[in-house]
Amino acid sequence: MQVIYIGNPILREISKPVESFDSELRRFVEELTRTMYEDDGVGLAAPQVAVSKRLFVFDDGSGPRVIINPEILEKGTEKVSIEEGCLSIPGIYANVIRPSWVKMRFQDIKGETHEELFEGYAGRIVQHEYDHLDGILFIDYLSPAKKALLRPKLNSIIKGKVAK
Ligand SMILES: [Zn+2]
Repeated sequence: MQVIYIGNPILREISKPVESFDSELRRFVEELTRTMYEDDGVGLAAPQVAVSKRLFVFDDGSGPRVIINPEILEKGTEKVSIEEGCLSIPGIYANVIRPSWVKMRFQDIKGETHEELFEGYAGRIVQHEYDHLDGILFIDYLSPAKKALLRPKLNSIIKGKVAK
């Protein structure tokens, strides 16, 4: 399983809902989780391995989690600025302002529905990963000036000049 980089159009697609909660899904989630740990990530969304499905895995330090077909039900009104990075945009880090918490409805690996409030580090990760399912990358939130500064580095990733 290989993480794809910015420049690959799959990262900009709107992913499709997961419909089958079967052994194939379980194997995919296991491999996605393994890839996240191997690449030292704290979250990895299916589109980042070129699979346009609405699911992601993450670990905020309390163990691996899988979130399938998430919906954001509610967001905190307080916004916080935290530095983010992304396995699909290697070597680039920048502060992004987002709500301090979100309440999500999602399905687990068995297809059962849950509602959960994610705050702190988990809140940040799930918002970043959720964006991947809608083709949004964290650099989309940066100011034009900040983006211009990062442009040469971004272009070298897009052109495939950055080794993993
Ligand atoms: Zn990412």
